Amino acid sequence: MEAKKVLIIEDEKSISDIIQFNLKKEGFDVDTAYDGESGLEKALNSKPDIILLDVMLPGIDGFEICKKVRETSIVPIIMLTAKEEEVDKVLGLELGADDYITKPFGMRELVARIKANIRRFDFDENKDDSSSNVMEFGNLAIDMNRYEVRKDGVALELTLREFELLQYLAERENRVFSREDLLTDVWGYEYYGDIRTVDVTVRRLREKLEDDSSAPKYIMTKRGIGYYFRRP
Ligand code: CA
Repeated sequence: MEAKKVLIIEDEKSISDIIQFNLKKEGFDVDTAYDGESGLEKALNSKPDIILLDVMLPGIDGFEICKKVRETSIVPIIMLTAKEEEVDKVLGLELGADDYITKPFGMRELVARIKANIRRFDFDENKDDSSSNVMEFGNLAIDMNRYEVRKDGVALELTLREFELLQYLAERENRVFSREDLLTDVWGYEYYGDIRTVDVTVRRLREKLEDDSSAPKYIMTKRGIGYYFRRP
C-alpha cells in the first residue's frame, strides 16, 4: 500500500519536527507548512490524505483554513488546539473539522487518531456507490450506500460525521445509545474522544433534519442516558 501523506500546518518548528519524526517512523509521508498562507496552498493543492492543522498561525488562522478547505474537499482534518477556548470554538463553529487534539498531546495518541481518521475515510471512499440502499422514515429517506439524505425529496447537506451518526442510529431504531457508545462506534476510537463532540454533532444534525430542532421528531434525547432514533 502506498504511504499516506500527512500535511502538518504548524508554525512552532519544534512541535512540527517532533510530529514529523514520529510520523515518518510510522511509515507516513510528511509535508509541512509553517504559516497559514502556504498551509492553505498545500492543503488545496498537494493532495494530502489527512491534515493536522494548528489553530494559531501567522497569516491565515487554522479556523479560516479549515473552512476554506471544506468548501472543496472532504479530506480528514484534525485541529491542534492549545487552549480550552479553542476547543470550544472548534466544537461550536461550523468548521467541518473531523477531530481535534489538545496540546500537549502524546505521540501515540496522535498517531492513533490519524490512523482512525484515515481508516474511516478510506472505508467511505471505497464503499460501493453504484447501488442504492434507501431506508425511509416518514418524509425522510436515507440512502446508506450513496450517503445521501433527502427530506421531502430535497437533499440535505450533511457532513460525513453527521451522516454516519444518523445512519448508525437509524439502522438501530429506538435503541438508546450513550454518548460514550456513540463515540466508540461512530467516531471509531475508544479512549481519546470528548463526549461533547457527540452533543455538538447531534445539535447540528437536528438543525438540518428537524422542522424544529428544539422539538425533535427523529433524533431523540433519553434524559440521563443518551440518544436514539425514532420513526416520526
Ligand atoms: Ca501556533
